Amino acid sequence: SFHRIPKEEITQLEHLGRGTRTNIYAGTLSCREEEEDGGNVQYSTREMRVVLKILDSAHRDISLPFFETASMMRQVCHKHIVLLHGVCVRNLENIMVEEVVEFGALDLFMHRKSEHLSTAWKFLVAKQLASALSYLEDKNLVHGNVCTKNILLARQGLDGDSGPFIKLSDPGVPITVLSREERVERIPWIAPECMDDTKNLSIATDKWGFGTTLWSVCYNGELPLKDRSLAEKERFYEAHCKMTPPVCCKELAELMQQCMNYNPPERPFFRAIMRDINRLQEQSECHTHVSTCQAI
Ligand code: ATP
Ligand code: MG
Repeated sequence: SFHRIPKEEITQLEHLGRGTRTNIYAGTLSCREEEEDGGNVQYSTREMRVVLKILDSAHRDISLPFFETASMMRQVCHKHIVLLHGVCVRNLENIMVEEVVEFGALDLFMHRKSEHLSTAWKFLVAKQLASALSYLEDKNLVHGNVCTKNILLARQGLDGDSGPFIKLSDPGVPITVLSREERVERIPWIAPECMDDTKNLSIATDKWGFGTTLWSVCYNGELPLKDRSLAEKERFYEAHCKMTPPVCCKELAELMQQCMNYNPPERPFFRAIMRDINRLQEQSECHTHVSTCQAI
């Protein structure tokens, strides 16, 4: 169930980055528009800027799982989730055509602007992400790759009144096609129950990923356990270790720990998480000052 875009309607422009078995390019999509002008219907074409996420042609064997992601994304319509225009098959390449989100990935943005990020700003990011995931929970849809680089920023919100505006990106190739080593690399984003069996993927998995994302947001986009070897990462989960709670946002730290519970059924519902964030946000007295967490 996805919209097929003819290859003639897209153009590929500059390279934006590499993902998991994908390359991301800027591009355009031409859309035919109908206009009524005194009873006459006229057609015109408009070029829209888009992002092209192209599955490496060497990985054509996983086109089906790649399109399953696209089909999940076509079922959602939420202001904090990236819009997928459709999919395109161009010779041997499979492409997701998506909306451009102006300021790119949240982790990179937070690294660049770390001195300007207030606790209030971080609360808003947390709240918007929780609302997107609560929507998916209601629809019984699993994302499966919630992490800071998969949150894109549509509005920076550093100038006071408007605040940030995020959009959760698509999850990319499903974790079911990743090798064990690739899954270990994703520790501590990937939920522990998915390490040995990816069939354990469920909405509870996204709660764990949300918890890790909260940690990363509190630490200005820092990547958790980034200096650990693969063996150390594996031991981290085997020993049921916990992330060091951020001191700057005590309120979010508590929530983070509830989400990063090694027993999936004990993780809270996103509706409850949203309620908590709203309550904490009202209580929070350190509303406007810049938080000064340093990752340990
Ligand atoms: P993964 O499945 O691991 O997330 P991916 O294919 O989604 O892989 P990413 O690493 O998430 O690739 O994205 C690569 C880069 O592309 C990001 O850092 C971001 O800058 C850019 N990017 C991705 N999607 C968009 C978008 N919709 N708008 C603007 N930039 C984007
Ligand atoms: Mg991504």
